[in-house]
Amino acid sequence: MNYISTRGNTPAKTFSQALLMGLAPDGGLMLPEHYPQITPAQLTHWRTLSYAELAFEVIRLFATDIPEADLRDIINRTYTRETFGSAEITPVRTLKDGIKIQALSNGPTLAFKDMAMQFLGNAFEYVLAKENQTLNILGATSGDTGSAAEYALRGKRGINVFMLSPDGKMSAFQRAQMYSLQDDNIINIAVRGMFDDCQDIVKAVQNDAEFKQRYCISTVNSINWGRIVAQVVYYIAGYLRATESNEQRVSFCVPSGNFGNICAGHIAKQMGVPIHRLIVATNENNVLDEFFRTGQYSPRDAAHTYVTSSPSMDISKASNFERFIFDLVGRDADQVQSLWANVAQGNGFNLQDKLDIIRQKYGFVSGSSTHADRLATIKSVYQTDGELIDPHTADGIKVARQLRESGETIVCLETALAAKFEATIHEAVGSVAVPRPAKLAGLEDLPQRVQVIDNDADVVKAIIRNKVGG
Ligand SMILES: *Cc1c(COP(=O)(O)O)cnc(C)c1O
Repeated sequence: MNYISTRGNTPAKTFSQALLMGLAPDGGLMLPEHYPQITPAQLTHWRTLSYAELAFEVIRLFATDIPEADLRDIINRTYTRETFGSAEITPVRTLKDGIKIQALSNGPTLAFKDMAMQFLGNAFEYVLAKENQTLNILGATSGDTGSAAEYALRGKRGINVFMLSPDGKMSAFQRAQMYSLQDDNIINIAVRGMFDDCQDIVKAVQNDAEFKQRYCISTVNSINWGRIVAQVVYYIAGYLRATESNEQRVSFCVPSGNFGNICAGHIAKQMGVPIHRLIVATNENNVLDEFFRTGQYSPRDAAHTYVTSSPSMDISKASNFERFIFDLVGRDADQVQSLWANVAQGNGFNLQDKLDIIRQKYGFVSGSSTHADRLATIKSVYQTDGELIDPHTADGIKVARQLRESGETIVCLETALAAKFEATIHEAVGSVAVPRPAKLAGLEDLPQRVQVIDNDADVVKAIIRNKVGG
């Protein structure tokens, strides 16, 4: 299986090569040259498999350059009860109103990003060792992504992680989660400034081509193909858990920001999994909702992106969206290039004439949720089902309830646990105790390791030089 770029000007790559890539050199995103097709007989067989066995069967279709025994080993070490809290890994439960929730947030950082990052950490380590390479991951985080990357890459051979965060701007829980890691290859750097300053430093270092090459600087952002492929697995697992036969169809409702999560759902559907609808749920940052309702895509800049109580969805330029559009326009890379040239000029684009295909063939619909909706949904689920859901998951449930058709089975993806967002939970239901997994008891009391620096890219470069040598 070869990988191609959505912009059409990158030579074909293997899975292992695509895994280590961020953006393609032509500015596009990597995708397999075709989607493997799953037969009904395969699906029936997969009903009997454990999560790790299923992950192996799915990922092997894409990772054809990794020997099967090695791939099986990587996956068996990744999807364990120890890491994800249950033998099912992503258990599916049903609310009193019939809507199902697939739990994706029982990994180390209590958010769905662990599902893919944990795989990526082990796969990176394997590929780097094989090619005798090292990698220095440089990232900026306002909380969630950075911690998922650190927990996935801690202690991995051949990899250092330099993670910038805005000094004093994260919650005590988020700080403790990242800064309490004592692994030698995890370097936490708190910058006196805002999240945007951290991002600017990452860009400045990346733009120093000589430094970037000399120190093998890379990133693990949401456009990485390895993350998408690992996510395809849980859509198939969710489908199998929510059905008894392949005649049944299931819709997924997905709290969305960068379109990375639901992009994997799109791929699962294209592989032949009987998915009925893919429901995009946004918060007040509703650029994607606008597209799926009207065909108009108008990304916004940072100044027009709201700070909301579902912060991991505060995104107005969905970095993975280009993968879906590539399929939508019949994989015409020239058209993708010209659409994104419009985006680069701040104009966006209109694909109104494709709305029928978007709905009928691809199954996409959408809705959005506000702060008031979020609080009301958290409260109503608490009252009816006695459980606390996180604000992002609440956005999904609100939209699922609104768009559900009679007889439709909807699986809402649980993208985080309530424990990460206590303040919003208390606003919704009063000061009840928010349950926290036992492994995280006393997290805030652990010793922390972080260096605080001025907002200066040269200081970050010096830290990297010191650590890596040379
Ligand atoms: C990252 C994240 C999302 C958004 O996922 P995308 O892949 O960016 O669409 C939603 N909820 C939570 C809790 C997240 O961390």
